[in-house]
Amino acid sequence: MSDTKMFKENIVSKLETIPTPFYYYDVEVLKQTLQKLKAESDKYGFIIHYALKANANNKIIDIIKSYNIGADCVSGNEVKKAVECDFKPEHIVFAGVGKNDAEINYALENNIFCFNCESLQELEVLNELAAAKKKTAGIALRINPNVNANTHKYITTGLEENKFGINLWELETVVNALKDFKNLNLIGLHFHIGSQIMDLNSFKSLCLRVNEIQGWFVNRKITIQNINVGGGLGVDYHEPEAHLITDFASYFKLFNDFLELQPGQKVHFELGRAIIAQCGTLISKVLYIKKGVNTNFAILDAGMTELMRPALYQAYHKIENLSKYQVSGIKYQEASSESEIRNPKSEIFKYDVVGPICESSDCFGKAVILPETKRGDIVALRTAGAYGEVMSSAYNLRDRVKAFYSDEI
Ligand SMILES: *Cc1c(COP(=O)(O)O)cnc(C)c1O
Repeated sequence: MSDTKMFKENIVSKLETIPTPFYYYDVEVLKQTLQKLKAESDKYGFIIHYALKANANNKIIDIIKSYNIGADCVSGNEVKKAVECDFKPEHIVFAGVGKNDAEINYALENNIFCFNCESLQELEVLNELAAAKKKTAGIALRINPNVNANTHKYITTGLEENKFGINLWELETVVNALKDFKNLNLIGLHFHIGSQIMDLNSFKSLCLRVNEIQGWFVNRKITIQNINVGGGLGVDYHEPEAHLITDFASYFKLFNDFLELQPGQKVHFELGRAIIAQCGTLISKVLYIKKGVNTNFAILDAGMTELMRPALYQAYHKIENLSKYQVSGIKYQEASSESEIRNPKSEIFKYDVVGPICESSDCFGKAVILPETKRGDIVALRTAGAYGEVMSSAYNLRDRVKAFYSDEI
């Protein structure tokens, strides 16, 4: 499946007819990822929710749902999408620091499994709104565990300085207040420390902190049925082919090894990126090559409007010139460094690969090593399935980016 050459020859031949830019999703990669995810999490009876915010395309959601995975939502419209896509209400969880009344009411009406609550005031409001509907809302306290995810600061969420969750020093007050909230039912604790976490030690620290916090509840004789440890498992943006499927085995094993559960407790995960990142590629064409002072610019027809991650948090995406794989009968060989590029006909150049948008941050990569690149070449931005299309915008009045699937073209 994950044969680089196959992947490229396959798409390049299909691409010619499709106007760029567009997202291309390899359904086979997605399915194999999901199979592995399920196999590894089922070993321990872990429950998985898909974080819709990573990619909310109907087709993607349908495939993911068919693996008996729940939905993790962070807005009312995501809850709505989950309901419309037929996730069972008891498989839907809803987090977010700023849920508005309409969003809460919608989720209450649809009897979702759990509200992951992030502040005392939110609990108060939820209790009132639930009372007005004569309902009891299942809640988990989203606790800020003050654990460093060692990832980019914009996607770190579990430190005291972050806006997310209830801080440990507030826990006593919050738990006392719960006694008066008759329309809330405490069913869980929720944690989410950040995204694109590559160092499993961060998750180990999380487990140890969860154990401490559990002790706090045990001492107060408060029973908690569900522990939700959030998402955040990272993927390999640098060498996608080498790790097309993230190492779910080590990830789930770590939680099994280090989480100390109370009798009957269930463990929930909310994964987004690790499920959907590697199967998506942004396909673009080179519009122009322009000489700069110390560099060449390769100007693509895709920009930050299609893929915002580089502009938003200096994210890296592997950039490949797919057209060069088809150079007159010369077999492509994977090149990981300058000296390894063995295609005799292509010379090596460095390019600042940029988009057409009127912002200097509209840059996908500086000094990117590519074979000589020309107007009309097809360029792939790899590992773009998560937080790619879903963040696309119409800035500069651009057309909204389209999506194509490997099993449909
Ligand atoms: C974004 C988010 C996730 C998913 O994060 P990934 O890094 O994509 O796995 C899970 N839970 C919550 C609460 C989130 O905000």
